[in-house]
Amino acid sequence: MWVAGRSSETPPVWGVLSKGAGAVTRSAWIMNVRTVLPAIAWGWFILSASLLGGERGHAAEAVSVIDAAGAGRHVAALADDALEGREGGSRGGRAAGAYIVETLRGAGLRPAGDEGTYYQRFGTMRNILALVPGSDPACERELVVVGAHYDHVGYGTAANSYGPTGLIHNGADDNASGVAGVLEIAEVLQAMPAKPRRPVLLAFWDGEEKGLLGSWHFVRVRPQPLRDLRPVFMVNLDMIGRLRGERVEIYGGRTMTGLRRILTETNRETGLELIFDWDIVDDSDHFPFIESRVPTVMLHTGLHDEYHRPSDDVQLVNTAGVEAVARLALGVVKVVANRPGTLADFRDASRREKNAHRDALERVVQAGPVEQRVRWGMSTRSDAGEPSAPVVVRVVPGSPLERAGLRCGDRIIAIDGEPFATQATMLERMASAGDALTLQIDRAGRILEVQVVSGETPASTDQAPAAPAVGDEPARGP
Ligand SMILES: [Zn+2]
Repeated sequence: MWVAGRSSETPPVWGVLSKGAGAVTRSAWIMNVRTVLPAIAWGWFILSASLLGGERGHAAEAVSVIDAAGAGRHVAALADDALEGREGGSRGGRAAGAYIVETLRGAGLRPAGDEGTYYQRFGTMRNILALVPGSDPACERELVVVGAHYDHVGYGTAANSYGPTGLIHNGADDNASGVAGVLEIAEVLQAMPAKPRRPVLLAFWDGEEKGLLGSWHFVRVRPQPLRDLRPVFMVNLDMIGRLRGERVEIYGGRTMTGLRRILTETNRETGLELIFDWDIVDDSDHFPFIESRVPTVMLHTGLHDEYHRPSDDVQLVNTAGVEAVARLALGVVKVVANRPGTLADFRDASRREKNAHRDALERVVQAGPVEQRVRWGMSTRSDAGEPSAPVVVRVVPGSPLERAGLRCGDRIIAIDGEPFATQATMLERMASAGDALTLQIDRAGRILEVQVVSGETPASTDQAPAAPAVGDEPARGP
């Protein structure tokens, strides 16, 4: 994750530089290594990467699930001191790229970079790109992207490190963890017998810590194998290595209508707590895609005291958490890549919606004194970004829904197992229901069921006091 606004570097014009500046050969590069010891470490490193890739290649069929041990091996390799903090354009950055390429090659993934390679060069840096082709000609040009930046800040500078500088910043969480997740996803997708309908691009961005350089370059210039493909959806994994209390932060969840539902349905298997953050900041590689109007979601396990310090190291990484978050990401990628019909467009309104709007939408309406004759006992507000999941903003004390455990902030997503399109439909169905029903709710990204018995006659309704919210939508109560 980039320390937004702190970088002193400005993106050069890669169109001019990309011809020769990045074309340093590996042997010339090794000749430039200043001391023997790093060269040996690097040589060992490439060798072990090749062996690991080879083993993975032979066992390609067996890599059918994401597991913590595999993710942990990738994190440990990428956060090794031999890679010297993986600064974009540095020898350690190049060695990290070589590790990723050998892993992709070993797993049998198709290169999608320049001239038959996995690399997309820009300046002295290199994105790494691999493709899982789609299986349906009807959507073979609709590219689903899952990516993570593999560079970090090297030895750190005053502009990009919280110190102490001059020591190797291994960036185990930032972002060896995200790279491990995308490598695991790549191996699973490649090993799947039935390929997804839409092509999936596995992307490893360089230069993120210098100002999102690799992802900005990609949205402007696509290498030849991808020239006719159009990104329709993107998942960004940045810092997924410090899962605490099962809480995952979700950014960009409103860039496509229905995206929250895709995340929560997929999360049935992983059971994480999803914290939806509506602010969109230029601090990671989701940003260039969102600026390019591609629906994009970023998964992130939160900042910590070791962020952009030498102490962001491998022993602090929660590899079971990397597994869980990568499984969630893979599930979302599979759902979107296989979704029939046309994918929803980018939601322009998501660029204007901030956490303040979220808080207004979720603002609780206090129960008033005239509450004797409620039937179910809740009020909801409609959400323009997710109209099929109204938000509960009032639960009447003593009502059937309060007794059933409903809480403010829950979102109603189905009645008796049937989803609905709008709040109005939900209200009609609750009004005409018998004296018992089951509500399916989304509580912080986890789907729960609430069984409620009314005991009242269908004739009575409670009138909720209107409350202003996003789009001036008053609260409604059945
Ligand atoms: Zn960072």
